[in-house]
Amino acid sequence: MSGLISPHGGELVDRTGPPPDDLADLASLTLTARELSDLDMLASGALSPLEGFMARADYESVLDDMRLASGLPWALPVCLAVDSPPQSDRVALADESGRPVAVLEVEDVFDYDKQHEAQAAFRTTDEAHPGVARLYGQKQLYLSGRVTVFERQQPQFPQLALDPAKTRARFAERGWKRVVGFQTRNPIHRAHEYLTKTALETVDGLLIHPLVGETKSDDVPAATRVACYGVLVDNYYPAGRVLVAAFPAAMRYAGPREAIWHAICRKNYGCSHFIVGRDHAGVGDYYGTYDAQLIFDDFEPHELDIEPMFFEHSFFCRVCGSMASAKTCPHPPDDHVHLSGTKVRELLGRGELPPVEFSRPEVAEVLIEAYRS
Ligand SMILES: [Zn+2]
Repeated sequence: MSGLISPHGGELVDRTGPPPDDLADLASLTLTARELSDLDMLASGALSPLEGFMARADYESVLDDMRLASGLPWALPVCLAVDSPPQSDRVALADESGRPVAVLEVEDVFDYDKQHEAQAAFRTTDEAHPGVARLYGQKQLYLSGRVTVFERQQPQFPQLALDPAKTRARFAERGWKRVVGFQTRNPIHRAHEYLTKTALETVDGLLIHPLVGETKSDDVPAATRVACYGVLVDNYYPAGRVLVAAFPAAMRYAGPREAIWHAICRKNYGCSHFIVGRDHAGVGDYYGTYDAQLIFDDFEPHELDIEPMFFEHSFFCRVCGSMASAKTCPHPPDDHVHLSGTKVRELLGRGELPPVEFSRPEVAEVLIEAYRS
């Protein structure tokens, strides 16, 4: 017994396996980058209990009730879009270069309503929303069925590639039982360092789990962020209490629903707790500041099993002399070190370090270097 939280649905799914003998005879479908990242997460069990792309009953139930047809909580569709129904009961799935990487056992092909999915998953039908734009641009039918993956995706950062089974093994080796997961797609400055350390004070270990899959083109590039996490952790976290690994998901920008989805995935990686800050997985002003926290109230306390840890915006307060938030500091905003994102980009672009109360100098140096090149 590792003492770690059970995977969602009870068992960690493993959909890896050898290629079939008749692979060369199968019709082949080429997947998008996002579908490939979903496929790889199906293979590793990151999306347990899913064993393949969703069938209609699960898809509709997820959109309408945030549950799989079995009743198990689930927040976002994991679907494969196709132009036409396949002509056989199995198809090969290929990466963008046309190389076959998996086989799908065809279960169903169904029509879907893009606007209905957009409203349910993203809470908007506005095509300016990047998730909605991607949905509106995709093919007209969904193909469902169990997958067997025989060629895993080459990880962008091999040193950070850890499947759920491996992450769980690392936790167990270190004797961690209660582990908090932190999702991020940005460099970690003092504010988020504070959240992770405040959470870590109450558990055994911290998983810094940056999303390195597909993001918007104006997000900080993953390689720069990974370098930032490295210098931050090496200099400011005890090695025995923190693990940095890549979360291979593509960003959906679905805000509240993505917060639930992110939490469920991290449960599969062995996290018992999950940090949800303000506007988690949001984009633009499509979601209210606390929507991604409030949505957890849609579930009974123990249904998700993984425990969300909610945080306010935090800052350095000169009077308190420490990091704080509106929950813990009574002083007015003038006493707080606040820099807008624009201001920070200006400073870094000029090669200037932001105040140490805002960003660790080692992290800022990495960002300045990235701006130079
Ligand atoms: Zn204060």
